[in-house]
Amino acid sequence: MTKLSLLANAVRELEELNGWANADALKRGLVRESVDLIQEIGTHLRSSSDREALLTRCRVLRGEASLSDRAVIQRLHGAREQELFLFCGPLKTWVKKSKRAFHSFVCGVPVRAMNETLDLLNEATAAEELRAALGNNDIYLAPAPGFSVFDIVACGGEANLDPKHFAYFFPEDELIDSDIARTVAFRNFYTHRFFNSSFPLLRRFVPASLPHAPTPAQVATCLLTWMKGHDLGHSVRLPRTSIPRLRSTLGEFDAGILEEALADCVGYLLVSSPLIRGKFALSEELAAGCFLGEMLRFITRGRALFHDTEAAVLELTFLARHGYATLRGDQIEVSVGSLRRGMLALAHELVRAILVADVQPAAELLATYLGAGNDGEATIGEFTSQVCARSSDLPLDTCYIFS
Ligand SMILES: [Zn+2]
Repeated sequence: MTKLSLLANAVRELEELNGWANADALKRGLVRESVDLIQEIGTHLRSSSDREALLTRCRVLRGEASLSDRAVIQRLHGAREQELFLFCGPLKTWVKKSKRAFHSFVCGVPVRAMNETLDLLNEATAAEELRAALGNNDIYLAPAPGFSVFDIVACGGEANLDPKHFAYFFPEDELIDSDIARTVAFRNFYTHRFFNSSFPLLRRFVPASLPHAPTPAQVATCLLTWMKGHDLGHSVRLPRTSIPRLRSTLGEFDAGILEEALADCVGYLLVSSPLIRGKFALSEELAAGCFLGEMLRFITRGRALFHDTEAAVLELTFLARHGYATLRGDQIEVSVGSLRRGMLALAHELVRAILVADVQPAAELLATYLGAGNDGEATIGEFTSQVCARSSDLPLDTCYIFS
């Protein structure tokens, strides 16, 4: 694994040497060495499907198989690994950070118990919960991508640079469009980042009535349940919903803000619902704390760079404007009860605005909560700049270098 990380780092370095005649030949040689190592790793796996996935990846890297072949995507991403997830090849990170794919290596071991638990939260459970919470029987979920949790054990190349990814979307992040899709999330990374970034933000900017000292296992379950719920939130539909029309009318970025805000609401409604909390043994305080900690972290990432940051600002503006939360200087005052009521009210607004045939309500919602001169712009602006100024000592742009 260490050698694969170092080889990926070296290939990524060579990618900076555009136009140097020897770079391509060197790159090909290093990728060939990586393929030999991956093939060797495959011989130690007991799972035949995992072995087959590694061999398929080797064939792709050698140019003997193409990612445009659906059968190849199916072998790589159609089933969850039993023993080992291993990716090697060109991968993109955040769109704004890397505009194209760069050579990467990522490897993780499956977290079986958590995957089995999260499988209980599927399209059918989510649709049932949302219909009941929103009082709307027309809500349904389009087929959602698969969701697999691993503990990351090694990475290299672009995936080993800053900012680190919390999750990958395959095969989209390999620049391949396919109806076979899955999210790969790294549990140990999530937990580590929460305790080093989001939890300190929560302690500093939300009065200490929220969770006291959650364990890493509780935090991992809560964050990943929320994230799975968020993923499912991207599949929520009404009969006349057209996400392509929303994107073509509002533009990808503005539509993305609303889509992320709805996914956040759905994730929160699911993770804070009595049924899901009961199944996963989660407290509502922890659900609220994880959500608010992550919201604060997103706010510090820089507006206009990420949909998710603008979505977090929209959510906080909505909560504050309608009295579900109070912003006092750099402090958020909110109770668990009012947070759930507020997110439910926002989910209602978003469903009415973006899942309908007419795009006008979506444009109005954006202007109301994020448009220049909107009510509360000064308060939220002061809040976000104070939070950013007072959190400069925290490791918010987490950067691990595996070596
Ligand atoms: Zn999302």
